[in-house]
Amino acid sequence: MRRWQRNTRLLLISLLFCSLTLLLAGCESQAPTSVPQGKSEGQTTIVTSFYPMYILTQNLCSGIDDVQIINMTPPQTGCLHDYQLTPDDMKTLEQADIFVINGAGMESFMDKVIAQQKDLTIIEASRGLALLKDEHGEDNPHVWLSIELYEKQVENVARGLAKADPGHAEKYQANAQAYKVQLEELRLRMHQELDGVEEKKIATFHEAFPYFAQEFDLHIVTVISREPGSEPSAEELAATVKTIKNTGVKALFAEPQYSTRAAQTIARETGARVYILDPIVSGPDDKNAYIQLMEKNMQTLKEALQ
Ligand SMILES: [Zn+2]
Repeated sequence: MRRWQRNTRLLLISLLFCSLTLLLAGCESQAPTSVPQGKSEGQTTIVTSFYPMYILTQNLCSGIDDVQIINMTPPQTGCLHDYQLTPDDMKTLEQADIFVINGAGMESFMDKVIAQQKDLTIIEASRGLALLKDEHGEDNPHVWLSIELYEKQVENVARGLAKADPGHAEKYQANAQAYKVQLEELRLRMHQELDGVEEKKIATFHEAFPYFAQEFDLHIVTVISREPGSEPSAEELAATVKTIKNTGVKALFAEPQYSTRAAQTIARETGARVYILDPIVSGPDDKNAYIQLMEKNMQTLKEALQ
């Protein structure tokens, strides 16, 4: 009996030891990965809300050593429609000096950020720009997809950074100028390639392209998914098929961030072809990504509309 008791006690002790070890190991591996490992003195930490703002800010901070840029949302997040802040996001923002956002309603969580981070400098890239409205009369936030407006976003963010971090003001402005030269070249190249295409009617996956269409004189006859991330209902699909048949649209543009299933279904019903048009809300960690992805879009449109 005693021996049984001793064995049980030994077993209990080893179980306790094991669970303690597991607990400690668990704690260690729970260190949040998206939060920077403390910043050094004199370093400016800029957090960006999502991919296009991250690429923009990378260009403005090029060659500045004591600035750290963190993209708050993972590159696969895509557009921030209805995005909810996570506890890790709040921790990331606690370390930020400056938060660069697109604005125009893309970051619907800003009330919470402003309430909790009163000292945070917020730079809104779309501030003062002429915005298009969506079908509900709300601002369409996909401003960066017009190259001309993206250049204005670059100016806005550079001005904001220069004000918030005056020690690097000249560098931010010089980087903005250099990036705008590259963007102007891209814009002119795209006009040369796309102004002459005969077909102007397109159908896109979500409401991301009105600014782009406005810039390149394209006509979006219908949008496949009103709610990005959710598949359209049977009724919505039928309505889209009808519109595409009536208008004679030849090209449907799905997006790399979302399933192409709905577009494929519509293509089967209408004979239109499916292409991929990138709203540049995800991609490589490369400051040239905006220009590269736009060029890819240009090639796709040329192929689809010629
Ligand atoms: Zn979107």
